[in-house]
Amino acid sequence: MKLLIVGGVAGGASAAARARRISEDAEIVLFERGPDVSFANCGLPYFIGGKIAERDRLLVAKPELLRSRFKLDVRTRSSVESIDRIAKNVCVRDVASGREYEETYDKLILATGAAPFRPSIPGMDLPGVFTLRTLQDTDQIKEQVDRGVKQVVLLGGGFISLELAENFVRCGISTTVVEKNGQILTPFDEEMTTPIVHELADNGVTLLLGQTAEAIEQTTEGLSVCLNSGRRLPAQLAIFGVGVRPENKLAVEAGLEVGPRGGIRVNEFLQTTDPNIYAVGDAIEVRDVVSGDPIQVPLAGPANRQGRIAADNVFGRAVTYRGTQGTAIVGVFDKTAAMTGASEKVLRRTNRNFRKVYVHPTHHAGYYPGAEAMTLKLLFDPTTGKVLGAQAVGGAGVDKRIDVLAVAIQSGMTAFDLEEMELSYAPQYGAAKDPVNMAGFVAGGLLRGDHPEADIELILAAPAGDKAFLLDVRTPQEFASGHIPTAVNIPVDDLRSRLSELPRDRKIAAYCQVGQRGYLATRILLQTGFTAVNVAGGYKTYKLFHPSPT
Ligand code: FAD
Repeated sequence: MKLLIVGGVAGGASAAARARRISEDAEIVLFERGPDVSFANCGLPYFIGGKIAERDRLLVAKPELLRSRFKLDVRTRSSVESIDRIAKNVCVRDVASGREYEETYDKLILATGAAPFRPSIPGMDLPGVFTLRTLQDTDQIKEQVDRGVKQVVLLGGGFISLELAENFVRCGISTTVVEKNGQILTPFDEEMTTPIVHELADNGVTLLLGQTAEAIEQTTEGLSVCLNSGRRLPAQLAIFGVGVRPENKLAVEAGLEVGPRGGIRVNEFLQTTDPNIYAVGDAIEVRDVVSGDPIQVPLAGPANRQGRIAADNVFGRAVTYRGTQGTAIVGVFDKTAAMTGASEKVLRRTNRNFRKVYVHPTHHAGYYPGAEAMTLKLLFDPTTGKVLGAQAVGGAGVDKRIDVLAVAIQSGMTAFDLEEMELSYAPQYGAAKDPVNMAGFVAGGLLRGDHPEADIELILAAPAGDKAFLLDVRTPQEFASGHIPTAVNIPVDDLRSRLSELPRDRKIAAYCQVGQRGYLATRILLQTGFTAVNVAGGYKTYKLFHPSPT
């Protein structure tokens, strides 16, 4: 068996190492256009900021290791230029010499990744304008940082830009993030990004939403980033993080099928439309675990796992890829945002019925010092309770809950299963009712009809004749420090004795801080003949939708 692999980083290097573990005899050639293989793209922002001090740490496996330990024929600075599917060979260009040669294959794996999108606006080629993908990009950006850059503009408010923002601020650089959409971190639902917006502001990052760069100009001070709003931002560094496009040129030119957004089409065995050619990683289209639709998800975990699976299949093991559910996480200063499965906006866009709940627990028992707050949003099927998606934002423990919920989605679990989930607990680690259980209790109560909840957006948007009576059941002190406009305050402990103050001809929407006292109030009201709902997630959820100005 002669296996050629194009692309030597996440997917390609994983495939090569796996292939060798399966077959000691196979001839395995790994082509990489750049000088490095198997480097840690995900660590690049942290090397720029100095958190990762040694550049060498980013080189997960150097070519020499792949050669000596895995007996791989690693060819760096070798760009595969074309594929001849009939002759079963590829044309390779040695980048240094320009020499071209052919190499035959029995099987071929494409792991060419995705390239950062570079908008075609004037000034993209000016010195100081970058995208971030390779170690060479990183070296150039870091060199500027070390030279004492004062101002950076990051175009795009996605994961990589926000990680860079944190690192630039830590280097004492004035940092502005410009995002075309009305929200950062667009895979998330907008309200779940509110705490991250506050975190950026608290750390001095200027965030400009709904704006784009139209041109970059050279000035005596460095650069001027010209926005569509007319604003001009002075900077010495401008870094575009506005999405990636699959590197599909080889595949397209070889006549392999690609999806509408350019991802190489593969079957469940990660085989392209040519059975001798497999493809993995950011370059491919995958099946969305929740919707079953084709999607593109540029993440390291799927790329690594796909590399292994493709190698298994090359050697006849018939392993299928389950699909991707977009489990992702980002740290922004002291906050973490993570998600898995479908977002509310995707469910709406695809007309999928769903219900949602918000809980605002602490990451471990509140009585134990150091408990950090989080908001957890759970999306589930309104009939079966099947978990469709989850998002969490907060401090410590966000990662753990989203990972548990990622497994729940993979296993097809329901909200009822979350109620029953047995998770580890001691006060410094969790709670006897873990946040995942809490989300299950609220969702389960809602599905059983024990706990009528309504979303604050719907309550507030109701037509004039159908407006709910907003009842704030928190303490007068909590009420005084902020409440939903028009709400009336009757603390839950006084509610039974003050029922006569409430209207019987209107629906009552009760709320507290996070939903728990509102739930109790709702139960009291329902059992005393009122029509009542609990406002999902309480005042904290309202504030996610109606944040205080930053
Ligand atoms: P890549 O890792 O991009 O590798 C593809 C390789 O193929 C490239 O080195 C390219 O030079 C080579 N190549 C392309 N065409 C040819 C050719 N014709 N001939 C030879 N070689 C070729 N993901 C996460 O899940 N978590 C994170 O925290 C995270 N952080 C990131 C931070 C940064 C700054 C970046 C850039 C990415 C990050 N990612 C993260 C995304 C993750 O790195 C990618 O999803 C993953 O690397 C994809 O693996 P891949 O093998 O498909 O592509």
